[in-house]
Amino acid sequence: MNIFTLKGKNILVTGGTRGIGKGIVEACAKAGANVAFTYARSAEAAEELKKEIEQNGTKALAFQADAVDAARAEEVVSEILKEWGSLDVLVNNAGITNDTLIMRMSEDQWDSVINTNLKSVFNYSKACVKPFMKQRNGSVINISSVVGLSGNAGQTNYAASKAGVVGFSKSLAKELSSRNIRVNVIAPGYIRTEMTDKLSEKVMESINKSIPMGKAGDVEDIANGVLFLASDASRYITGETIRIDGGMAM
Ligand code: NAP
Repeated sequence: MNIFTLKGKNILVTGGTRGIGKGIVEACAKAGANVAFTYARSAEAAEELKKEIEQNGTKALAFQADAVDAARAEEVVSEILKEWGSLDVLVNNAGITNDTLIMRMSEDQWDSVINTNLKSVFNYSKACVKPFMKQRNGSVINISSVVGLSGNAGQTNYAASKAGVVGFSKSLAKELSSRNIRVNVIAPGYIRTEMTDKLSEKVMESINKSIPMGKAGDVEDIANGVLFLASDASRYITGETIRIDGGMAM
């Protein structure tokens, strides 16, 4: 038996159209889950991904939903419950960066990153808690960052949002453990996405030197962690933060 199977599970991933989120959506579908995902702007990519999942043999739902919008989060979750009857796993992945040194950081740069990366986690967790409590089962997986654990110059907004996700997750785990609802965090290190593909060889070389394992990770490395935390193989793990970073923040 494959203990990482997600057969029969219904999963919601925020920010599923690109990068790590897309990798998570694809991996969950391949592991047998029905996958609903949200996006902000990429309508065409969302339609393609939905088709890809359906061709793979499981169900898919795509929602245009700004993760900052709490009312929309409630709508998305109730639509999934209406369509599929239950929801088993929430992956809070949607996130942005807007880097600069604090001397130059505007209030808007602070607010947009905190709201997109942290308030969104509150919005979707809150929307999922009621159905999870009712069914006495659920797994929340929040995508933070090693920057939230160790800090990074030029990213005070991003680091605060990602450290906030860790504190939020431990608190929620304590609130919900007795109902068999688990809340865990994945803290990715440097992961190759479309964005990092644009970096010069010289920049990549210096990044690789800062990683004990000598290279950046792939989206599949993060998706593998999600498969574990979404599956029953991790049934006794809650309030944990798993670094997937090649040893970078050790
Ligand atoms: P990405 O390639 O920029 O993709 C971000 C995804 O989030 C897209 O699907 C985007 O939708 C969606 N999104 C952005 N703002 C949104 C909003 N307001 N509402 C709903 N969806 C929104 O980012 P990524 O690199 O894969 O990062 C994914 C997560 O991993 C983030 O939380 C990030 O902080 C974290 N992380 C990434 C790395 C890394 O090296 N890449 C390292 C550590 C942590 P659209 O396509 O519609 O814009």
